[in-house]
Amino acid sequence: MKLTYQPYQLELKHPFTIAKFSRTATPLLLLQLEYEGFTGYGEASMVPYMGENLETATAFLKKVDLSFFYQPFSAKRLMAYLDDLAPGNPNIKAAIDIAFHDLIGKMEQKPCYQLFGANPDLMPVTSFTLGLDTPEMIVKKAQEAAGFKVIKIKLGKDNDEEIIRAIRSVTQVPLYVDANQGWTDRQQSLDKICWLHEQGVELIEQPMDKNDVEGNAWLTERSPVAIIGDEAVQRFADVEKAKGVYHGINVKLMKSAGMFEGHRMLIKAKELGLKVLIGCMSETSCATLAAAALAPLCDWADLDGPFLTKNNPYQNPEFVNGKYMLKEAFGLGLKSVDGSPL
Ligand code: MG
Repeated sequence: MKLTYQPYQLELKHPFTIAKFSRTATPLLLLQLEYEGFTGYGEASMVPYMGENLETATAFLKKVDLSFFYQPFSAKRLMAYLDDLAPGNPNIKAAIDIAFHDLIGKMEQKPCYQLFGANPDLMPVTSFTLGLDTPEMIVKKAQEAAGFKVIKIKLGKDNDEEIIRAIRSVTQVPLYVDANQGWTDRQQSLDKICWLHEQGVELIEQPMDKNDVEGNAWLTERSPVAIIGDEAVQRFADVEKAKGVYHGINVKLMKSAGMFEGHRMLIKAKELGLKVLIGCMSETSCATLAAAALAPLCDWADLDGPFLTKNNPYQNPEFVNGKYMLKEAFGLGLKSVDGSPL
């Protein structure tokens, strides 16, 4: 199996601001695996706060030798091999894992969702995220989000209520809220959650610091809205720790090191009675289609990556009535900008 890759700078339509930082572009690494005339496509989105970058990704890839992988290929064996090389690097591991599943799908003539037993008819709607901004810009962005059935907003500064009112002046769609660990006082947070509940908010991601287990558990016990652990839940081992602390978890392929472990995480979460939101980073159609293949197995989806970028190097996935439409194409179903299948 031959591995090649190229760096790619993904530019965002609007500067993306959340409680802890702001950015206008995200470094990606686009990766391909080739085997017997088939090519699988993968992608690493190296958002700054996860600590990976082109240097760490390249250093990791120098250690990777897939030449001894033989059929039948096993995603489990691949992930065990990658984790043995180094414990971290979930972004670049995800790129390899996604390309691997695209390749397997093409070789076995199956769409990726079929590899995981997901039914495209059960696809949840995807939310569209608005970063922190002035109320005027929020109104403009909310208008741009027409076509999406749910809006997700980033809160965590002191103008939360003003932002919600601005959104409500233009749309009545359900809202998801992401506090990105920005809230600190338990009672104030609970009061805010109760108010948000009245405004049509259906879930809240990571209200308090990821290490404040007691604070998040206290809120979850009392909240009328589903509380979802995101920053607190990275890989498989974290799922069990979320029980009793959150109502659900946010699975992202860039955290879980790809589809194999993302799937294990959502199955484990269901066993534990936790809900699952499948999310994304700033991503192209490639990683988004990988997450969309698992989305029918989840309760909610937040896979708006391609819609927030200016220079997606692939065609945007088909999106109808707020949902991704998974196709019969083998593998991820990725297409080049001119519409030809990759
Ligand atoms: Mg989040």
